[in-house]
Amino acid sequence: MSDTIFGKIIRREIPADIVYEDDLALAFKDVSPQAPTHILVIPKKPIPRLSDSTESDTELMGHLLMTVKKVADLANLSNGYRVVINNGNDAGQSVDHLHLHILGDRSMNWPPG
Ligand code: AMP
Repeated sequence: MSDTIFGKIIRREIPADIVYEDDLALAFKDVSPQAPTHILVIPKKPIPRLSDSTESDTELMGHLLMTVKKVADLANLSNGYRVVINNGNDAGQSVDHLHLHILGDRSMNWPPG
């Protein structure tokens, strides 16, 4: 199991505001929200980065996107939302456990910074 802060959240060693859970994924509110709604979707499998995923993770990756859709529906983000994966240093990834950001309840700019 991952030894990052997200691994600790999965193992319930530190608290988080969990909004969804199933066998493969967990979703919880970001502790430093960048939008009125900011939720992280993570796999329970400790994949550090998207670029570390392999062919064997194909089904899991689809599951994570479907989890994003489910969580966005639960959060009533009917006006739209942004999904972000920061991969590696240049993207500013700060936690080495794959996570999908869901940002919503405000309009977004493009391109991102
Ligand atoms: P990233 O910069 O893409 O790696 O995103 C990591 C995200 O994890 C940031 O938005 C942080 O605010 C968030 N984060 C870090 N620690 C926690 C925590 N204990 N609970 C919830 N979110 C966290």
